[in-house]
Amino acid sequence: MRVGIGYDSHRFGTEGPLVLGGVRIPECAALTGHSDGDAVVHALIDALLGAAGLGDIGVRFPDSDPALQGADSILLLAQVVRLLAREELEIRNVDVTVVAEAPRLAPHREAMRERLAATLGVSPSAVSLKGKSNEGMGWIGRGEGIAVHAVALLGPAGTASRSMRE
Ligand code: MG
Repeated sequence: MRVGIGYDSHRFGTEGPLVLGGVRIPECAALTGHSDGDAVVHALIDALLGAAGLGDIGVRFPDSDPALQGADSILLLAQVVRLLAREELEIRNVDVTVVAEAPRLAPHREAMRERLAATLGVSPSAVSLKGKSNEGMGWIGRGEGIAVHAVALLGPAGTASRSMRE
């Protein structure tokens, strides 16, 4: 088994929609970034690449690449999933914590789990998403942006128990 950790943070811009975990949340301001600013997907990509020993998101998808301007981060995640398959690695589960004062994660959690699980090729039960406020402290508390922590567990392809694939 191989474990990886990922972290990302993005600042809120002025206009929506927010894209988080591959789900559009129109009532919230978008996160600024070279791509669509999806900090959940970016942290997940780093956790997966870290577990596989395949570098990091900045190396794979440099923000100097004009082709990635406004890119759909879910498509970048799909590329990483293909990289893992090439290495004969399979995702066992991922766990994500989103730290933000807004939006509340709960109303969007199931949609995010399903979108991420479909992209990762795992059951939604293998994708955990948790939301935390920062209790009003610091830059997150002031609503300036979002921070995301992610971990991913990988195993050799073809050895997952059936419950993990369902
Ligand atoms: Mg990012």
